[in-house]
Amino acid sequence: MNQQILLTPGPTPIPPETLKMESLPIIHHRTREFAELFRESQENLQYVFQTKAKVFVLASSGTGAMECAVANLISPKDKAIVAACGAFGERWVKILTAFGANVVAIRSEWGSAVKPSELEKVLNENPDTKAVFSTHTDTSTAIACDIKGYGALVSKTNAILVVDAISGLGGQELYMDNWNLDVVISASQKGLMAAPGLGFIAVNPKAWKLVLDSKSPRFYWDLRTVEKAFHDGQTPFTPAISLLRSINVSLKAIRKKGIQTIWEETKELANFTKEYGKSLSLKIFPKDPCEVLTSFIVPEGLDGEKIVQTIVDKYNISLAGGQEKLKGKVVRVAHMGFIQKADIEKGMKALAETLAASAVAK
Ligand SMILES: *Cc1c(COP(=O)(O)O)cnc(C)c1O
Repeated sequence: MNQQILLTPGPTPIPPETLKMESLPIIHHRTREFAELFRESQENLQYVFQTKAKVFVLASSGTGAMECAVANLISPKDKAIVAACGAFGERWVKILTAFGANVVAIRSEWGSAVKPSELEKVLNENPDTKAVFSTHTDTSTAIACDIKGYGALVSKTNAILVVDAISGLGGQELYMDNWNLDVVISASQKGLMAAPGLGFIAVNPKAWKLVLDSKSPRFYWDLRTVEKAFHDGQTPFTPAISLLRSINVSLKAIRKKGIQTIWEETKELANFTKEYGKSLSLKIFPKDPCEVLTSFIVPEGLDGEKIVQTIVDKYNISLAGGQEKLKGKVVRVAHMGFIQKADIEKGMKALAETLAASAVAK
């Protein structure tokens, strides 16, 4: 099979040493061998999250971990503020609404992040807020939110801050403990360089009080049960053993290189991609761009969906189109995880040729 070049913001390419682990014979999980893997991966996860808090491992995609957060932190009618900077901020609104929360949504101006001053105003108007939900890097708009700034504000209140770092973790700077982030969520298939199927949720002591108090129904997602098993190096239900074994190799590699070095390298790739786009006269969509992917505005009169499809068909390179209201209007190029500069170069060249051909055909 001719390997497709993946420049999509999840799933992302997987390093060969990580991939290899998935084909090993399965082991039973109620064993010392699994408990050792569990403890080792826990240390590596805490390093990547930059936290001393427990990082719970769930067999789910990232959205499962988001729902787990809501079920464990929010009771029906609780007030929750969402600082939304794109489709993934809107996902918080949808999950919270499904759980009967009283949602106050702050929606940023088209293409910009919610400013800490806007959050401050809404927090002051709503002193009964239980939790603030936001997104580290909103993959739909390629925006980075100022979660450090949000953390500084929310930590002064009784509310907690919950951050979806599904696409940002392992690519864009994040210090869970130093930035006062109370709950951080991620998943296996983006910056953490493994296959899809694992969700992560790190919960600090301030947030844990809410877990004990939540009146929302939960069983599979009940973090109280997860925490009990945690002490024995176990999960309450069958874990995704192969995936954990495999991601642990990627986590070790991140730790070996140093997460700050990876943030720097990702920033360089982001600059390279943005400069390449500028040389093609492409405009960058967000005003507050993140470093894990870049979103380019598709020139007037061209269809972004068609461009992405043509590039897959003709070059076997997978870029991402737009989501929801950005469908057809942007093309997104990821530069997180194991994505290589040479492949970004091929992707950008294919984009340049396809745009030129589409402009002629128009
Ligand atoms: C990919 C992504 C999600 C959704 O994750 P799934 O693993 O597809 O459930 C949520 N938030 C952000 C910011 C993402 O990039």
